[in-house]
Amino acid sequence: MYQDTIAAISTPLGEGGIGIVRLSGAEARPIAETIFQGKLSNRRLSYGHIIDPDSSEVVDEVLVSYMPAPHTYTREDVVEINCHGGPLPLQRILQLALRCGARLANPGEFTLRAFLNGRIDLAQAESVLDIVTARTQASLRLALQGLRGGLSGAVKSLRSELMSTLAYLTARIDFPEDEVEPQDVVQSLSESLARLRGLIATADSGIVYRQGVRTAIVGRPNVGKSSLLNRLLRQDRSIVTPIPGTTRDTVEEVVNLRGVPFLLVDTAGIIHSKDVVESLGVERSRRAVEQADLVLLVLDISEPLSDADRDIIALIGDRPALVAANKSDLRQEAQIDGLPWEVVRTSALTGDGLSELEARMVNLALGGDVVTCDALMVANPRHKAALERAEKSLVQALDGVASGLPDDFITIDLTAALNCLGEITGETVHEELLEAIFSNFCVGK
Ligand code: GDP
Repeated sequence: MYQDTIAAISTPLGEGGIGIVRLSGAEARPIAETIFQGKLSNRRLSYGHIIDPDSSEVVDEVLVSYMPAPHTYTREDVVEINCHGGPLPLQRILQLALRCGARLANPGEFTLRAFLNGRIDLAQAESVLDIVTARTQASLRLALQGLRGGLSGAVKSLRSELMSTLAYLTARIDFPEDEVEPQDVVQSLSESLARLRGLIATADSGIVYRQGVRTAIVGRPNVGKSSLLNRLLRQDRSIVTPIPGTTRDTVEEVVNLRGVPFLLVDTAGIIHSKDVVESLGVERSRRAVEQADLVLLVLDISEPLSDADRDIIALIGDRPALVAANKSDLRQEAQIDGLPWEVVRTSALTGDGLSELEARMVNLALGGDVVTCDALMVANPRHKAALERAEKSLVQALDGVASGLPDDFITIDLTAALNCLGEITGETVHEELLEAIFSNFCVGK
């Protein structure tokens, strides 16, 4: 348990109906009692006012909940002050809590404490962030599965299998002359390896669901990029979140295509812009293409391909791409055979081919896999990397057995595999890794 009590605003900054200041730690209750005029009771909401203890001034009218350890988010005493959701009341209440002895929480520190105090493991803690940032129902389902311990359970059972093989080998080394019940090491290692590979096989699709597919829509002016983008966005019947582009002058929109979040980067405005020199536009498109997981090249097939089209085709090079041969409602003039990518005929005007385009995009994103998000999936690149390192060590262990290496060598590889798996759930983890993971959280989570 930690000595200090942390506090933070746990709701987004801005104006809202309510806002929450959260405190966690041994002093949470005494601090709340110093600034709250009202009566706290366990696991109940208490009505009252926040008062500045120095000036006796009323700061806000609030509802406060007090949750005693250990059945709380952090496993420590937790107080949540529900106040009016404006920046001023929230800031003033937070400042009062800090003045009374709380420390401002670091990003993700509430969740970090939940992990360090053993309520959830590291993979589950990471799922908390995934829930907050999920963009489609499918991504959310995966994140919830992670929080419930889906992957953690699979990793733990793999670890315990490996652990028992390790125990057997160690016994054989330590007590060679004693009767140690013989076990088939090759068989048990092979079974573990197969299960490990089964998990790794789900990772590419899982990561796509979790992170989305950054897709650059490129093409010369007037081919129909914006019209296609609008079509794709309109087809999305669920949430569409506009987010400012990471690069200036590009627009990113998240669109949900069959559960897969696509971050569509529209470069249309760029080349169109009158005050931007053409070369600068091309430069920006180039950057969008370089940062993309998938390129959607839009061509106007009602006109012969131009030099501008060919420049953009050259820009794409050998990246994964899909061609929308647009304006298919008009007479075809363009010669588009021989492009190295799949071509879908579309008309942004009539909507023809849009559903086919969508299907091909999803197909390319998932590498042709048909996946259901109800199955267990590895969705975090960190987890995938750790599983792959564990796989390498297990293969080495098996090779070692096959070539008759002494048991000591095999146990070294087995221990390495166990440590890699432990990094996923946090049994074996370094301080820097924890910092790196939790720095992605916002303050207050
Ligand atoms: P962008 O510059 O590539 O973003 O192209 P726009 O989406 O602004 O479209 C340029 C023009 O082409 C507009 O007048 C659109 O209405 C028209 N357009 C776009 N898609 C189609 C299509 O599939 N068929 C036809 N006939 N016109 C289209």
